[in-house]
Amino acid sequence: MNVPLRQHLIDPELCIRCGTCEESCSVGAVSHNDDNYVVDAEKCKYCMDCIAPCPTGSIDNWRVVNSAYSLEEQFSWDELPEQEDTVESESGSIEAIDDDALALLDAAHSAVGNRAKAPASADTPSVNLYTKDNPVIARVVGNFPITEDVVENDVRHIVLDFGSTAFPFLEGQTIGILPPGTDAKGKPHRMRLYSISSPRDGERPNHNNLALTVKREISKVDEEIHEGIASNYICNLERDDEVRVTGPYGSTFLMPNDPGANILMICTGTGSAPFRAFTERRRRAMANAEGRLMLIFGARRPAELPYFGPLKKIPPEFLDQELVFSRLDGQEKEYVQDRMRQRTDDIHALLEDKATHIFICGLKDMEAGVNEALTDICHQGGSDWVECRREMLESGRYHVETY
Ligand SMILES: Cc1cc2nc3c(=O)[nH]c(=O)nc-3n(C[C@H](O)[C@H](O)[C@H](O)COP(=O)(O)OP(=O)(O)OC[C@H]3O[C@@H](n4cnc5c(N)ncnc54)[C@H](O)[C@@H]3O)c2cc1C
Repeated sequence: MNVPLRQHLIDPELCIRCGTCEESCSVGAVSHNDDNYVVDAEKCKYCMDCIAPCPTGSIDNWRVVNSAYSLEEQFSWDELPEQEDTVESESGSIEAIDDDALALLDAAHSAVGNRAKAPASADTPSVNLYTKDNPVIARVVGNFPITEDVVENDVRHIVLDFGSTAFPFLEGQTIGILPPGTDAKGKPHRMRLYSISSPRDGERPNHNNLALTVKREISKVDEEIHEGIASNYICNLERDDEVRVTGPYGSTFLMPNDPGANILMICTGTGSAPFRAFTERRRRAMANAEGRLMLIFGARRPAELPYFGPLKKIPPEFLDQELVFSRLDGQEKEYVQDRMRQRTDDIHALLEDKATHIFICGLKDMEAGVNEALTDICHQGGSDWVECRREMLESGRYHVETY
């Protein structure tokens, strides 16, 4: 058995002991006793056949371990063990899992810092299954432009397939991409993070794949063109190319799994990626959910807004959406915070409801404006945003991921 091992496990707290996993396993890896359903690490082939039939998601649990949990250990569990924070690398040394990814995520979550909490109803995420020393190889099965203006603002929908290798993820998580080649000092290029824009059952339902929403970064300084390393590498990928992937990462910026949760999503540009995953999850798994979905999405022009066409087709009863543009000819600039103020009554009503979660994702410089708008909205409604945010943070209902 390879070390470290990605061990497939069943969450005894969520499992309703219906037996669909054991029935769907063609290699006899799943068994049960009077207490628990368990997976034999020696037999599991990571085929994922058991994932879709499970009604609770308890089957979709993974831990990276130095030695596999035995069947006896799994039979004795009332809950899953925590992910060990160190694993033995291929070189045999004991090291922390992916410090690079943790540092990038820490920076992206700096607005909420160590107070960030996952929504109470979110499922338990798998994290750090693949590291930069031990990445998974994914195959490109799609690369499509999703903005009309591909010259100034080329954003692409990239679909990666993991074949028979397990890559479980939840909506709101990110993955790392390792671009090939070395930097000016001869060191391998560092890993970059990208949000997953598909729901947990895959870009194509029940396929072991996922999509990313990637903007080609190009900057011009003194007439000199500088191309971003990873984004240009990804945007230029062709069908069947192989890509080194790490992760998945992130255990707080996660979609609430409660159909009663209202989700207010505020984003710019590629910050829409996790929200595509959220809305698609609701559409596929909880189409009649009571909780409201509201999206406030900013871009410079419609031609620069990722997924503009498909978004326009989503009915307002399912997704209450405000698309906001800051560079429309002959019109005053408008930003997400301006449109939020126009919806003061609706947003204040959402804030008063303890079932509401706020998710903010996109460029770092959107945070201040959104915060000011929420301050004004609360003021108008006779409440205090500082207090409201504190309570939302403590109850895992306020989430920020900006970069
Ligand atoms: C949690 C998280 C989630 C993310 N999700 C997404 C996502 O869903 N989609 C997405 O597109 N991005 C996402 N990002 C951003 C992504 O990780 C990368 O930072 C981004 O793609 C740029 O990486 P790059 O390698 O292309 O650019 P880099 O090579 O890192 O360069 C950065 C910028 O500097 C410019 N530059 C390079 N060299 C020079 C130079 N000599 N002089 C001046 N300028 C220069 C480049 O043009 C580029 O604009 C996310 C980031 C985080 C932290």
